[in-house]
Amino acid sequence: MSTLEIKDLHVSIDTEQGTKEILKGVTLTIKTGETHAIMGPNGSGKSTLASTIAGHPRYNVTSGSILLDGEDVLEMGVDERARAGLFLAMQYPVEVPGVTMTNFLRTAKTAIDGEAPSLRHWTKDVKAAMENLKIDADFANRNVNEGFSGGEKKRVEILQMELFKPKFAVLDETDSGLDVDALKVVSDGVNRAAEQNEMGTLLITHYTRILRYIKPDFVHVFVDGRIAEQGGPELADQLEDEGYDRFLVKA
Ligand code: ADP
Ligand code: MG
Ligand code: MG
Repeated sequence: MSTLEIKDLHVSIDTEQGTKEILKGVTLTIKTGETHAIMGPNGSGKSTLASTIAGHPRYNVTSGSILLDGEDVLEMGVDERARAGLFLAMQYPVEVPGVTMTNFLRTAKTAIDGEAPSLRHWTKDVKAAMENLKIDADFANRNVNEGFSGGEKKRVEILQMELFKPKFAVLDETDSGLDVDALKVVSDGVNRAAEQNEMGTLLITHYTRILRYIKPDFVHVFVDGRIAEQGGPELADQLEDEGYDRFLVKA
């Protein structure tokens, strides 16, 4: 079992108006096999948390820590984070001209594992994962993300997640812009990875819709850069009925 520990994390960004603190002390522990949903109103800092875990240079950690099995994630470069077992959807390139999906996936898998996957298994794994995610076979020969629709990009993101077999995945608004069929395919992919590979998931979302397909073990409500309340799946149901008003008054 592995553990991702976020401890009293404070994060700022530099803006033209000066330094702005966005995360104001976030503490959260995720174990492999667990699914945590982070929910909250727009602007509460959810994406900032995802970007900080991903190592985006814009976000300055002013105090606190992120540890993966005791190793300091904040000291790791972006590639090292992937090799350590973190999957952060946004670290992958938006478009890679001249690089086919097949080559990209194999190169990335080799970099993450430190060795090339056996060709026989790999070809089979890619084919199976593409079928599971209802990705058309000709995508393999297309250039990475070039001309992909929003829904296709999301499926390809989950394809990478299935193939790279991370310990932890951070999925930020993976549900946005998906129709119900695509949402179901993407959710099935996340659920499969959680079950088969014991992946831990940090599922960040504004809406409760995706939580009908991906059942969280824990729900954290994010308000103004902090976790304002934590609970089980029933908290998501409550938010679906009541919205975030109660938290906004408190904040
Ligand atoms: P959420 O994902 O919950 O909607 P964000 O993390 O995107 O929240 O944003 C939190 C706050 O930080 C917002 O007020 C947003 O305007 C601000 N913010 C985040 N990233 C930047 C940035 N790169 N430049 C300026 N402001 C930012
Ligand atoms: Mg936002
Ligand atoms: Mg966001």
